[in-house]
Amino acid sequence: MMRRWLDAGYRPPAGTVLINPGRAAWYSGMMPGLLAGRYTVDECAIALAPWCRALGIVLVEDSVVALDAANRVITLAHTGNLSYQCLSLNTGSRQPLPALNDGSIGLVPAKPFSAFYQDWQRWHQGSSPRQLGILGGGAAAVELALALRRSLPESELHVFSGKELLHGQAFGLIQRARKLLLARGVELHEGIYIDQIRQGQVVAGGRPVQQLEALVLATGAAALDWYQGSGLVCDDRGFICVSDTLQSASSPEVFAAGDCAAHAGSKKSGVYSVRHGAVLAQNVRAWLSGDALDDYQPQKQALALLSTADGGALMHYAGWTLGGQLMGKWKHYLDQGFMEKHRVSD
Ligand SMILES: Cc1cc2nc3c(=O)[nH]c(=O)nc-3n(C[C@H](O)[C@H](O)[C@H](O)COP(=O)(O)OP(=O)(O)OC[C@H]3O[C@@H](n4cnc5c(N)ncnc54)[C@H](O)[C@@H]3O)c2cc1C
Repeated sequence: MMRRWLDAGYRPPAGTVLINPGRAAWYSGMMPGLLAGRYTVDECAIALAPWCRALGIVLVEDSVVALDAANRVITLAHTGNLSYQCLSLNTGSRQPLPALNDGSIGLVPAKPFSAFYQDWQRWHQGSSPRQLGILGGGAAAVELALALRRSLPESELHVFSGKELLHGQAFGLIQRARKLLLARGVELHEGIYIDQIRQGQVVAGGRPVQQLEALVLATGAAALDWYQGSGLVCDDRGFICVSDTLQSASSPEVFAAGDCAAHAGSKKSGVYSVRHGAVLAQNVRAWLSGDALDDYQPQKQALALLSTADGGALMHYAGWTLGGQLMGKWKHYLDQGFMEKHRVSD
C-alpha cells in the first residue's frame, strides 16, 4: 500500500499513523532462507521508519490489543487509546495451539518472526533442542523443517501433520516434498492430529506420540482474539468479514486485508495478501476523498515456490510441479525483486 502511495505521489492526511510492534516488517518468503543461512536479517526485513518519513506518517511502535468499532477507538498495549476516522487492519494471524497444554514443552510459534528468530539464534549458538518438533503439514512446515534440518544438525527433527503432508496440494509436489524430508533425515508423522502436550510429550487422541524438548508451531492461521471482540462482523473462525472492496461487512470505515480478512475467494497466504495491497492502496485513498472504490478480484491460480534450504526450490503452478536448483534461482530472483520494490531510501 505504501509503495503505491509513494509512487503515485499521494500523501495521506495529517494524523495518519502506522502501528507495528517493531521497526521492521519481515518477509515470510525469505524466512526459511534466513534460517538456512542463505540470507541476513537485513535482507529479509523491511525498515518501516524510512517509509513513514517519506509519506509523512508517524510510526507508533506498539500493538493493538482491542478495537471498539462502534466508537471507532483502538487500544494499544502501551500508548493507550486512539480514535480513528478510517482504519486499515493488516495484522495477520497467529498459529493455533494444541487444545490441552501442560506447558512441559517449549512452544515456539513461527510468527512473529522476530521472536522466532531469537529462539532460533539461541539454538543455533549451541543450545539446540535434542528433540525438536514442527507442528503443521503445510508449505511453511515443510520449508521450516528443511531449513532447521540444515541449521540444527544436532537436533532430532520431527514433523507432525494432522492430515497428509501438503494436504490439498498437487500429488507431484507432495511426493517431492515427502522424499526430500525423508532423505534429509526428518521424521514424518502424517495423519496424526496432536491435540495435547503432556509431560514432555505430544499426544494424539490420548496416545503419547513423541518426547520433545521444543515444538515449532506452523499450524496455519488462527484469528487474533480481539478481532471477534471488536464488534466487527467476523466469520466462524473469527476473521474479519470483508466485501470485495476490502471494507468490513459491518463498518465501511474499517478496511481489512491479508490474513486477518475473511474474503470469499482469498486464501491465507502471502501471495493473496500482497494482491490485496494494491486494491487497499486505491480504496483507502478513494474512501477518504469520497470517490468510488474498486473491487478486488482474487487470482485463480497461485504460484507455490518452496525453498529446500540447499539453494533449490520446489515449484507448483497450474498442475505443473518441478524441483531443483533452477527453481531455487528463480525463487531467489523473485524474492530479491520483491524486497527491492519494498525498500525506500531516506
Ligand atoms: C515460515 C513461513 C513461510 C511462509 N512462506 C510463504 C511464502 O513463501 N509464500 C506465501 O504466499 N505465504 C507464505 N507464508 C504465509 C504468509 O506469511 C502469510 O500468509 C502472510 O504473511 C500474511 O500477510 P499479512 O500481511 O496478512 O500478515 P503478516 O505478514 O503476518 O503481517 C502482520 C503484521 O502485523 C503486525 N501485527 C500483528 N499483530 C499486531 C497487533 N496486534 N498490532 C499491531 N501490529 C500487529 C505484525 O508485526 C506484522 O508486521 C509463510 C508463513 C510462514 C509462517
